[in-house]
Amino acid sequence: MASNPHLSSRLQGFGTTIFAEMSALAVKTGALNLGQGFPDTDGPPEVAEAAIAAIRNGHNQYPPLPGVADLRLAIAEHQQRFWDVRLDPNTEVLVTAGATEAIAATLLALCEAGDEVVVFDPTYDSYAAGIAMAGARIRPVVLTAQANGTFGFDPVQLREAFSPRTRLLLLNTPHNPSGKVFTDEELSLIGELCVEHDVIAVTDEVYEHLVFDGRHRLLSAYPGMAERTVTISSGGKTFSFTGWKVGWATGPADLIAAVRVAKQFLTFVNGAPFQPAIAVGLRLDDSYFSQFRRQLEQKRDLLCSKLGQAGFDVLTPQGTYFATVDIRRLGFSDGIQFCLGLPELAGVVAVPSAVFYQDRKDGAHFVRFCFAKNDAMLTEAGDRLITAFA
Ligand SMILES: *Cc1c(COP(=O)(O)O)cnc(C)c1O
Repeated sequence: MASNPHLSSRLQGFGTTIFAEMSALAVKTGALNLGQGFPDTDGPPEVAEAAIAAIRNGHNQYPPLPGVADLRLAIAEHQQRFWDVRLDPNTEVLVTAGATEAIAATLLALCEAGDEVVVFDPTYDSYAAGIAMAGARIRPVVLTAQANGTFGFDPVQLREAFSPRTRLLLLNTPHNPSGKVFTDEELSLIGELCVEHDVIAVTDEVYEHLVFDGRHRLLSAYPGMAERTVTISSGGKTFSFTGWKVGWATGPADLIAAVRVAKQFLTFVNGAPFQPAIAVGLRLDDSYFSQFRRQLEQKRDLLCSKLGQAGFDVLTPQGTYFATVDIRRLGFSDGIQFCLGLPELAGVVAVPSAVFYQDRKDGAHFVRFCFAKNDAMLTEAGDRLITAFA
């Protein structure tokens, strides 16, 4: 994590993360890797076949800037089917190179240098870098473990995070790494504050189909929010094709047009044959989406039960495919040291949640495990942790 003298001042501190080190450690020790956040099996075969057919049928040149028309239509249909949102596929839908590009383009399009972006901390790792590249400043509101075993925030701190410099609020629900699903009450307050301070909301909903407890709610559905929210998602997590990088931003035409300007000069376009394939995915029966959720819910329950048996305090996630544990009950306090030693100690790799926090102290005692893995691996990893700690 040494600083690189070639790196611009905007990007100082965003060098190589601990992930590379952890993965190298996994390979070296032969440990089971529950660190990396992607599934170990591919998604629906009919979606894969659609991509192969698209390549064979000549969908290999630049697609249109806003995305292929049929995918934009499929995204609009999906938003209507699941979330009761009506969109004009021609003006209110933009296809991007994954959710990551949609987030970066939105930040670059909408922020002036010095503007502030309110986020809930910990954050997905691209947020702070995207905000920095846009010349804006991150204004974190820390999520803390509540008595009921979920993550929550102090409404007073959220209110205080808004200032005359606040341009955007960037919300991720279901939330990676915490597994939190923001509640109706929380989203109401967030919406009220955005309206009161004339702030635009950007929501990252890549885990929209992985809510196990409660239900997924769109911030754009709250009073006054439809006209000020850019809603972002992607096919990577929903269809278990994280390498395809087909994402989208939806929202009011004027905001989407602004995001399109920035997107045009980042990648212009991507994934010509994957775009029609993701359209096939978005049109799968409801049963695909419910089975996918049930399957991951079972994996959550399997891993969380083992983590509990190993003696951790488990913060059972309401959504996503990540579970967080508090390591203090096992006598540890530093998650980074704990994760560096874990392959040797237990033959398992996990990620220290501290790396997702603006101030690492806030997440020092949390460790994240990914459960989007086959049941045999989850069982074996869980049993190894039980043997090492229980
Ligand atoms: C995986 C992930 C992304 C990245 O999505 P892509 O479509 O692969 O760019 C964005 N946000 C969160 C919270 C994620 O977990």
